[in-house]
Order: sequence, then structure tokens, then C-alpha cells
Amino acid sequence: MVAPAATRHADDTMRYARAPQLVASNLHQHLMDIIKDSIRTIPDFPEPGIQFRDVTTLFNDARAFRMAIDMLLHPWAGERIDKVAALEARGFIMGGAIAHQLSVGFVPIRKAGKLPGPRSSEAYTLEYGEAVMELHDDAIKPGERVLLVDDLIATGGTCEAGINLVRRQQGHIVGCGFIIDLPDLGGRARVESLDVRVHTLCAFEGD
Ligand code: AMP
Repeated sequence: MVAPAATRHADDTMRYARAPQLVASNLHQHLMDIIKDSIRTIPDFPEPGIQFRDVTTLFNDARAFRMAIDMLLHPWAGERIDKVAALEARGFIMGGAIAHQLSVGFVPIRKAGKLPGPRSSEAYTLEYGEAVMELHDDAIKPGERVLLVDDLIATGGTCEAGINLVRRQQGHIVGCGFIIDLPDLGGRARVESLDVRVHTLCAFEGD
């Protein structure tokens, strides 16, 4: 049965009013899919049972790389960012591109023993054993607003170590950005409990 003209008109008006939002959300989903599809999964690397999410294939794809960098910046548009800090090693590739785009300085947070100058260390727990991240003591001035990035958040331990190092220098963490979230490992909740906003582009469930 065909609806009366007035009802059809009202329905159409509703549909067209929602069209820009639908287009925007479909486009957003489409861009996220392109990013997720560009990531290669290597099973059992570096050890049996680990699904390694390899972002080198994303970095290798000009469009996906460009989109990932742009989309990592969207939530912070209009906010002051003084420095981009990144976690070794794949975080450096993103952090350099983001810092360049924002025209701000870049700060590497490195594994123990790699930074040459006076530095602070932060130990954190891995699934098996401990690891240490380090930050140059003069990398961040008190009050500077820092965006922290890495390729992937799993348990959130590496990110928490980075946050603690930046905060020890009295830097303010504006937020943390990751290409990939492994939600089953709880890293986002762990970092958010430190009163830090977390932004991720795609998720792999069940890891
Ligand atoms: P976590 O400290 O547990 O959040 O681990 C995050 C760090 O470990 C990031 O620097 C990632 O690059 C790396 N990582 C952890 N799990 C994976 C994975 N399944 N695939 C790729 N990298 C991973």
C-alpha cells in the first residue's frame, strides 16, 4: 500500500535531513576499513600464539598511511599541542609524520640503553618479565602539552610507562593515539584510568 503523499513527504524530509550524517558515518567506516585492510597479520610472530599486527604494510600504502596520520589528528583539532612523543619503534614513523604535520617538535621514548644523553627510566611489566623505556631529561619543558603515539595498544603497559616519563617532566598528556586497539587486552581502560584520552583507528577483537 502506498503511503499518503503528506506522510511520504515527511519521511523523505527526515531521510534527507539525516543524509549528511549517514554519508559522514559511512565515509568514516569506509576509511577505517581501508586502514584496517592495509594491516597484515603474521600468525605466531614473534612467538607461537601471537597474532602480529604488522603496520609496515600500512606505511607502504601511500593512501592508507596519509589517512591514518590525518585521522589520528582529528580528535585534537583546535587543541594546543607543543610536542609529539612516540614509543619505539613503529611509533617513531607515525610520530615523525604527525609532528611534521603539526609543525611541532618530536620526542622519542626509547628502549633502555639507546638514548645518548641524560635520561630518566621507567620499568614496566611485560607478559613475561620486565622492560624499561627511557626519555631524555631535557625533552619536555614543564607545562608543555604532549600527544603520545604508538602503532598499537595491547595491555597498555608501554603507553603507561611513556605517560609516567612525560609526567615526571611535568608535561601534560593531551591524549594518546594508536592505529590499532586490541580491546581484549584492556589497554584502553588502563590508560583512561590514568585520566588520559585514548583514540584508536581500528580494533582486532579476540587477540
Ligand atoms: P602493550 O604494552 O601490551 O600495550 O604493548 C604495546 C606494544 O607492543 C606496542 O609498541 C606494539 O607495537 C607491541 N605489540 C604488542 N602486541 C602486538 C601485536 N599483537 N602485534 C604487533 N605489535 C604488538
